Amino acid sequence: MEERKNSHYPAGGNNAPVDENSSAPPHFIRAIIREDLRTGKYQGRVHTRFPPEPNGYLHIGHAKSICLNFGLAKEFGGKCNLRYDDTNPAKEDVEYVESIEEDVRWLGFDWQDRKFYASDYFEQLYRFAVALIEKGAAYVCDLTAEQVREYRGTLTEPGKNSPYRTRSVQENLDLFRRMKNGEFEEGSRVLRAKIDMTSPNLNMRDPAIYRIKKVHHHRSGDSWCIYPMYDFAHGICDSLEGITHSICTLEFEDHRPLYDWFLQQLDIYRPQQIEFARLNVTYTLLSKRKLLQLVNEGHVSGWDDPRMPTLAGYRRRGYTAEAIRNFAEIIGVAKRDSMVDHQLLEYCLREDLNKRAQRVMAVLNPLKVVIDNYPEDQVEEMEAINNPEDESMGKRKVPFSRVIYIERDDFREDPPKQFHRLAPGREVRLRYAYFITCTRVVKDEKSGEIIELHGTYDPASRGGWAPDGRKVKGTIHWVSAQHALDATVRLYEYLFTKEDPGDTEEGRTFLDNLNANSMLERRHCKMEPGLKAAKPGDRFQFERLGYFCVDGPDSSPEAPIFNRTVTLRDSWAKIEKKMQE
Ligand code: ATP
Ligand code: MG
Repeated sequence: MEERKNSHYPAGGNNAPVDENSSAPPHFIRAIIREDLRTGKYQGRVHTRFPPEPNGYLHIGHAKSICLNFGLAKEFGGKCNLRYDDTNPAKEDVEYVESIEEDVRWLGFDWQDRKFYASDYFEQLYRFAVALIEKGAAYVCDLTAEQVREYRGTLTEPGKNSPYRTRSVQENLDLFRRMKNGEFEEGSRVLRAKIDMTSPNLNMRDPAIYRIKKVHHHRSGDSWCIYPMYDFAHGICDSLEGITHSICTLEFEDHRPLYDWFLQQLDIYRPQQIEFARLNVTYTLLSKRKLLQLVNEGHVSGWDDPRMPTLAGYRRRGYTAEAIRNFAEIIGVAKRDSMVDHQLLEYCLREDLNKRAQRVMAVLNPLKVVIDNYPEDQVEEMEAINNPEDESMGKRKVPFSRVIYIERDDFREDPPKQFHRLAPGREVRLRYAYFITCTRVVKDEKSGEIIELHGTYDPASRGGWAPDGRKVKGTIHWVSAQHALDATVRLYEYLFTKEDPGDTEEGRTFLDNLNANSMLERRHCKMEPGLKAAKPGDRFQFERLGYFCVDGPDSSPEAPIFNRTVTLRDSWAKIEKKMQE
């Protein structure tokens, strides 16, 4: 049977040798595909699809699905289609279609010439529905929505047959055609599958196949006023496209018998549906409906707000596609729902950025330091390493002069014991430059606030090493005042204060869990002048402060803005330790 159904797909069309030694961790879907390839179930074909509904931007949960579907196809020499599930015209939009394509490409995947829309199949889907009616497997039902609910029964009680269930084929064909022609009001009738009102699986109790919706569709315009239900359309689209493994999330497990039922009744090629657990991430909401609410109500600046868990948001924030793909691989695929720590994603990101991001010096909270014994007009070009992880990234020159900025936090007038940075009378190393000693603190007379430091440098310590072998405990970063780029920096925290933002008390919503401090903007940060050439999307490691990325929409050469992508973890402590050795 299976043999015959599959036979109109050419054998071995796209099967590449399976790499048995692949380093990819085994998971149950890989195991199923390997077994199917071994037994020749689909003549060696692997054909998956990613089926987004264009009703919002893609989020990190979708990334898991994209990596899985496109990734498995690639791994096994197969194909993966991009298919829009656009069966619900009311919520769909071309803006979403465009963003989805940008995001899938950005993640590094390619559907080549296989972009489809469920709406491409509206004509065929209609004919399949007629075929079901003709064989007595579907009927037009006039029950109201409320009655349908009543008749459906519950998990513990069987349902009741609709009084319209026994309509003749002729009457059903006539009514369905008139539904299509727009003769009836929205909600007055639906086409239902005739399955079993006593099935323990509620999805099998005569589910709706078509409903009347007199709305404009973003692609088919006004040519249809009846639209197929997802469960009906999805399996048929899979079948028509020759999908082998229809991978979806766990909530569709109970829909699988229905998926199979439609294809069986229509006697068309049958892919297999495989369910996996959807991704949940701490401090993160992954529901397009709720994300849309955040956008619409202005809690964030848009779908691409750098705090959003959308791919557009992560990209703007400075995340790399490699990091997200790696994350998707590490979290694996399981049959049970679980919560993944957002820090795992951050870990993957740091691993990647550490390799690729150029190091630079930037001061976010500047304190001016005048080096009194440094010649007024002198400027020296200090040599700095671009990336200690990658020699091929080379070196650069950073100007040094008499007046510099350091981080306010790197000075304490009255330092506690463990504080090894600058303090009155104390000597520290300026990274890549000189040893300096603080000699004087200048304060605002009224407020007592420190406004400036004075100090001296040791000309013999050029490059940051004293010839006499003298050690200093602290190394701090700096920027030459006269050369500095003045820029704005945006620092982020999680958008929500709760690990599970959807977990709310009686009478409250996820909005009550929003973090009021999720963005902090710092103006007049001082950065090394090389950053004047930075373009939107460029990523850097600001030494000791984290990874940063030039913002796309809001940044300009006149008023540059850097988003903090992620903080550093321990790496500076390591560098400092090395220097002391
Ligand atoms: P949402 O609940 O955010 O609206 P959805 O499942 O309705 O998501 P779709 O556009 O239908 O969104 O999803 C496209 C594909 O992405 C589906 O195959 C779906 O199973 C998968 N997907 C969606 N969310 C997740 C998730 N959190 N983890 C894994 N896969 C997901
Ligand atoms: Mg959906």
